[in-house]
Amino acid sequence: MTHSGIGYDLHRLVAGRRLVIGGIEVPFDKGSEGHSDGDVLSHALCDALLGAASLGDIGTHFPDTDPKWKGASSLLFLEHIRKMLADRRYRVVHVDAIVICERPKLGPHFPAMRAALAKSLGITTDEINLKAKTNEGVDAVGRGEAIAAHAIATVRQH
Ligand code: MG
Repeated sequence: MTHSGIGYDLHRLVAGRRLVIGGIEVPFDKGSEGHSDGDVLSHALCDALLGAASLGDIGTHFPDTDPKWKGASSLLFLEHIRKMLADRRYRVVHVDAIVICERPKLGPHFPAMRAALAKSLGITTDEINLKAKTNEGVDAVGRGEAIAAHAIATVRQH
């Protein structure tokens, strides 16, 4: 039996923060605002994985009011969710995601992101697909004020 879940996230881009996407620090003059490292892609993936296993959402499991998660690497969230899924006999079959921002160019960083995400999820890089889009200059994402991500995860219970 396979199950799918979707995830979405958006973070403001501000000066004085690191830009962490998919567990990798991407050189840029702005970064994601957030309680943790603000990793928009990892957060969307967390929600997709939790959704596939009917386990709620990221805010329930990793509340931004908890000082434990302040500045935390979002890869820790993925590793925690991996254990939650394993406890329920779910195996991640595939994940696909889209990251949307005007700048910087993300494609060159995808191999490193896929490697980091695959390691945290205990899957191979072939099981993770990443895509980059711009917002064609439209709205907050298009003006470079924010970065967004959509993800879908497929899991199988065995
Ligand atoms: Mg987030």
